[in-house]
Amino acid sequence: MSVQYEDQQVTVFQSALHQTTSTVVATDDMILIVDPAWLPEEIAAIQEHVKSKDKGQRQYLLFTHSDFDHILGWNAFPEAVTIASRGFAARSGKEETIQEIKDFDDHYYIQRPYIIDYPAIDIIIDYDEQTIEMGNTSVSFYLAPGHQADGVFAVVHELHTLIAGDYLSDVEFPFIHHNSEAYERTIDKLEQVLSQKNIGLLVPGHGKSTANVNEMRDRIEDSRWYIQVLRDEVRQKEKFEVLQAFVDSFLFSRYLGEEHENNKAQMKEEEKG
Ligand SMILES: [Zn+2]
Repeated sequence: MSVQYEDQQVTVFQSALHQTTSTVVATDDMILIVDPAWLPEEIAAIQEHVKSKDKGQRQYLLFTHSDFDHILGWNAFPEAVTIASRGFAARSGKEETIQEIKDFDDHYYIQRPYIIDYPAIDIIIDYDEQTIEMGNTSVSFYLAPGHQADGVFAVVHELHTLIAGDYLSDVEFPFIHHNSEAYERTIDKLEQVLSQKNIGLLVPGHGKSTANVNEMRDRIEDSRWYIQVLRDEVRQKEKFEVLQAFVDSFLFSRYLGEEHENNKAQMKEEEKG
């Protein structure tokens, strides 16, 4: 497990798999752990880090959405108070998601020193800017549908840090597994929060964190552009070279090409009405 970003209070771990990030925010008042992933050694490193920051603060564990890679570390942090959206807690298909984790572990002969199960949620996020306050630390949560229906992103106010879940990545264009218009509204919400909360660190669910405000804006614009052009392509029933060139410009374009095809199919479904 490598650490891709670290300052006094924020540590962003990056998994070898899909460049998945796991964030730990540790202040005097609380420890917030986000999406601890993937491999046993990587999760053990996050546990070690949390232990090193533990001064008896309450621990929180946020799941940004219910994709299996983001929830497989649940039982590694049994003391943490869990946080996720209403949709995360209430969704159907939990067994299938757990089966995806088990299939992954079986496929790679992975044994974990904790039980794999679907997270039980203690604090359910129902509305935007729902906030947890502990001493001098406050964290607000926002509903973020579009990638998945049950997404959440979080802002740690005092640290001007935005933990975005699977949005605003530098290694992926939008993966629209839920709905493109919901995705666009989430992008709008992220844009508002970036400026209103004076965000100085953006952490995506996959790929690199950035402290560069221009890069944050570029990622917003790229996501927005991709969805708009994809919709135009589907509506006008013609292929736009510029869109394919954009997809091909990503480092892992062979795999991402499949996600692009999924996005097209999703958009066609939506356009059918
Ligand atoms: Zn993900």
